[in-house]
Order: sequence, then structure tokens, then C-alpha cells
Amino acid sequence: QRVLVANLQRNVANRRNAFLHLVSTTLIKNHDLVVAEELRSKNMLRNHALAMSIADVGWRTFLSMLAYKAGLYGRSFVTVNPRNTTQTCSACGFVMTGDQKLTLADRKWTCPHCGAFHIRDHNAAKNILAKGLAVK
Ligand SMILES: [Zn+2]
Repeated sequence: QRVLVANLQRNVANRRNAFLHLVSTTLIKNHDLVVAEELRSKNMLRNHALAMSIADVGWRTFLSMLAYKAGLYGRSFVTVNPRNTTQTCSACGFVMTGDQKLTLADRKWTCPHCGAFHIRDHNAAKNILAKGLAVK
């Protein structure tokens, strides 16, 4: 049983690693600039749902793959401060605070300031890219 479990764990680790390599290589090869949020594991690991997915995906490993592959392929890889990337309207810059603050359950939302409709992660991605372009 011990050997069986060890083999299963190794298989899972190998598959995860292969997946991270595939995704990071594809991203770097197909883009001149890749921007990601800096690691915020300490904060996010306090949130159980996110803790699961971050631990699962091996985010730290993924970011380091992106960094060294960017060097390898002559691309740019930038990490930015994750502060308010979700809460900011990418159309007008309005920041959701207090009672308006988006929760994890809010997958879509409409900006109360300019009326722009957002898909949560797409809006955050736009903000992350804008931050990355600003520091580049
Ligand atoms: Zn707005």
C-alpha cells in the first residue's frame, strides 16, 4: 500500500509539472509580454477556497517557469502588486470599497460609476495587464 500511494503521488506530481510546463511555454512563446500578479500566498491561504486551488496549481512553480522561460525566449515577464486588481473598474478606474466591495461569489458585476458590465476575472486581467504595461 505504501509503495502504491508513493507511485500515485509521483504520477500526480509529474502530471502537474508537465501541465505547468506546457501552459507556461505556450504563454511565453505566443506573447511578447506576460503579466501576472505577485504571489500573495500568505493572504490567500487564509481563504480556504483559494488556498485549495493555489496549492493545487503550484502557483509559485508556475511563476518561476514563466520568469525563466521569458529569459529563454527573449520575452518580458512582469509581476504586479495584486492590490485592487479585482475591485477596480477597468473602464473608468472606479474602486469598489465598503459595502460595494465584490465578494468571491460575484463573478459578474456592473460598475456603479460608469455602468460598464464586467466578467470578474476578465476585468481583473485587464487591470493586471495595465499595471504591467505601466511598470514596463
Ligand atoms: Zn466604471
